[in-house]
Amino acid sequence: MSRTLIIAEHDGASLSPSTAKCANCATAIGQEFDIVVMGSSINEVASQAAALNGAGTVFTIDAEHLASPLAASHASEVVAMADGYSHILGPSSTYGRDLMPRIAALLGVNQVSDISAVEGAHHFKRPIYAGNAIVDVQAPEAAKLVATVRIASWKAVDNSGSAAVEERSAVSAPSTHTRYIKLESGGGERPDLQSAARVISGGRAMASEENFDLIYSLADLIGAGTGASRAAVDAGYCPNDMQVGQTGKIISPDLYIAFGISGAIQHITGIKDAGTIVAVNKDAEAPIFEVADIGLAADLFTVIPEMKQLLG
Ligand SMILES: Cc1cc2nc3c(=O)[nH]c(=O)nc-3n(C[C@H](O)[C@H](O)[C@H](O)COP(=O)(O)OP(=O)(O)OC[C@H]3O[C@@H](n4cnc5c(N)ncnc54)[C@H](O)[C@@H]3O)c2cc1C
Repeated sequence: MSRTLIIAEHDGASLSPSTAKCANCATAIGQEFDIVVMGSSINEVASQAAALNGAGTVFTIDAEHLASPLAASHASEVVAMADGYSHILGPSSTYGRDLMPRIAALLGVNQVSDISAVEGAHHFKRPIYAGNAIVDVQAPEAAKLVATVRIASWKAVDNSGSAAVEERSAVSAPSTHTRYIKLESGGGERPDLQSAARVISGGRAMASEENFDLIYSLADLIGAGTGASRAAVDAGYCPNDMQVGQTGKIISPDLYIAFGISGAIQHITGIKDAGTIVAVNKDAEAPIFEVADIGLAADLFTVIPEMKQLLG
């Protein structure tokens, strides 16, 4: 029974990199692992999951009502196959943070959140206080472990696997109390904020929704995802799903460029794992310069057009 089940995250066409990162965490736990892909018409996603290094079996549960990522339906499917597993892992993305507590509740166990390092099969590390402290979590060995994996802390496993794919029948009925209406995403065709290799963010200093076009057009020149501080989101300059930080998204791009963001601790916690941090802020004393690898004390409204000219 010492086996791990990973819940695959996908958009119906592509597997999210968060699944390959969960696979790395499962490998660190030191047990064999399987992956379950839930959705509708998911053969392509299942093949991508089967290629993840270390995957034992990929189970597909294909049903019309599983096409939208409703935790109410997905949790029932996972619980129905939980018997064979000691550990059940999902990503600490919006999807995982919605789904995993529901699975834990149905199984009658507590959830372990945001695993950032594995010390043993039931012994983990996770950040608390906006990443200012790391806590050791010892989970009870007798209980099933349901956990989210802090995806910014893990590299993806490679695609050298060739797992078998097995179909399972859906056991859940379409939910009667929760309806999926639509997905509204601010990023458009841009790379997903949580998996983009480059991210460009704007803060309160952008001063208007129109000015955020500067961020979007610069991002498009280098194929970057776009983010924002909470102050920019709260001011209505950009959609809420662009928020980076403690109460937004925790990201780990290779390159993070922050324009007019002061560097509050709640924002920094979201970018700690970024490769190179570049900050442009007209206040040379702004705290963001303490974490930036490259800093420019300058007016963003001068710098962005200059950068666009150089790149364009
Ligand atoms: C419980 C809690 C959770 C929170 N969660 C988050 C979170 O997830 N994410 C988050 O971001 N914040 C979060 N916050 C808010 C956080 O504390 C800060 O208030 C917020 O990050 C500030 O956003 P900002 O840097 O855009 O704005 P400000 O702090 O107002 O900074 C604006 C910066 O722009 C600079 N600037 C002004 N004009 C220009 C210009 N023309 N060119 C260049 N620079 C310029 C200024 O020098 C200043 O440094 C949270 C707060 C709390 C209490």
